[in-house]
Amino acid sequence: MSLIEGRGEKVYILDASAIIFGFTSMEGTQVTCREIIDEVKFGGAALFRAAAMKEATARIVEPSEKYVEMVKKKKNEVGEIGLSEADIKLIAIALEFKDRGWHPVIVSADYSVQNMALIFNIDVEKIIHRGISKKIMWVSYCPSCKWVGEVFKGGRCPVCGAKLKRRPTSSSSE
Ligand SMILES: [Zn+2]
Repeated sequence: MSLIEGRGEKVYILDASAIIFGFTSMEGTQVTCREIIDEVKFGGAALFRAAAMKEATARIVEPSEKYVEMVKKKKNEVGEIGLSEADIKLIAIALEFKDRGWHPVIVSADYSVQNMALIFNIDVEKIIHRGISKKIMWVSYCPSCKWVGEVFKGGRCPVCGAKLKRRPTSSSSE
């Protein structure tokens, strides 16, 4: 990713829940990573529309490997196993923007992401505290044998042993 130097401008880094909830902010740039758009697109028609709309406004960026490694190292140090590859990339993107003089804000409802952001001293917009009465249901799925089941945080497929991924199955109003 080749970023222009920032002067403290806000950049919002959106996770899957931020996209599903239609997080919008008039100020600042909005970015996400390809994996997040894909994660949302797996979740069905309504989520697909949410992703398609967000794709139009959020810039998709790829973090530099250096920052991805930095996040992975810290994740292992603190034993935070609840992070997906997409989550790791989002935090890496935030670190990279920060290094370039921007003011990154991660928009997320995910506790593990919020926790890592705190550790790296990155601001978080906790969207569950913004009065949005929607819940995302997550399932784990196996990218190899297509097994689907309860969410295993950082777990492995009970059938073939591949590393599980997760995706949202629905978002519903309460
Ligand atoms: Zn499997």
